[in-house]
Amino acid sequence: MTSGRPLFMFDFDRTILCEDSDVGVPQSLGATSALEVLKTYRFGDDWTRIVDEALLAMQTREGKSRDDIAAAARGQRAFPETLEALALVAAHADAHIVSDANDVYIGSFLAAHGLDRGFKVWTNPTFVDEAGRLRVRPFRAAGAAPACHDCPANLCKAEVVRQMLAQAPARPRFVAYAGDGRNDFHPATVLSAADHVLVRNDESEPRALGLFHAIKRSPGSVRASVHYWKDGRDLLRVVRELLL
Ligand SMILES: [Mg+2]
Repeated sequence: MTSGRPLFMFDFDRTILCEDSDVGVPQSLGATSALEVLKTYRFGDDWTRIVDEALLAMQTREGKSRDDIAAAARGQRAFPETLEALALVAAHADAHIVSDANDVYIGSFLAAHGLDRGFKVWTNPTFVDEAGRLRVRPFRAAGAAPACHDCPANLCKAEVVRQMLAQAPARPRFVAYAGDGRNDFHPATVLSAADHVLVRNDESEPRALGLFHAIKRSPGSVRASVHYWKDGRDLLRVVRELLL
């Protein structure tokens, strides 16, 4: 059955935002010790654990409050047309965000733009510890077997896509997935020929070309229609074409 509304999924960092919130939030706060913590990351490390350490550094070493952190998240930069595209999607489709950031960064940003009710967010949950500090824990329960061998152990976005489709009351009219990173490749490969992948392709931002290069390296691995976009204006144009 394909009578359902379209289903849209967006990555958050460098897709909705221009930059990466895990870095952008401490940068906005001038929290240099937290940025130093993030720089200790090496390939294969548990990124969410390092972000948790960075959150602790912001609060204990830099004296920032939970409100300061939420305010910095609200102020993260996005193209105005991207916000317009998100509002359009929230009005016309089942709208989801799938991200390895966290619920405070994403929730604060969406609320600041009046978009928090429009999206279901799949991401790392935060909590307040016994000392009153904002902390983040992994999306995937500690010790759980990885969902696949292609994605970071904490979050296989393809697994989330499968869960979403299993929970949908009817097969969506189409699925559209917008992303930029290497971890957006696996979900792109599980979509069908009726679906769409919105791939960021901005040569001036080499850190946002992971998905672009992964698709180029494996031609034929993505059955969905591929649409390239560079900035908010492009993204809005594609979203309009698909929805209106
Ligand atoms: Mg991203």
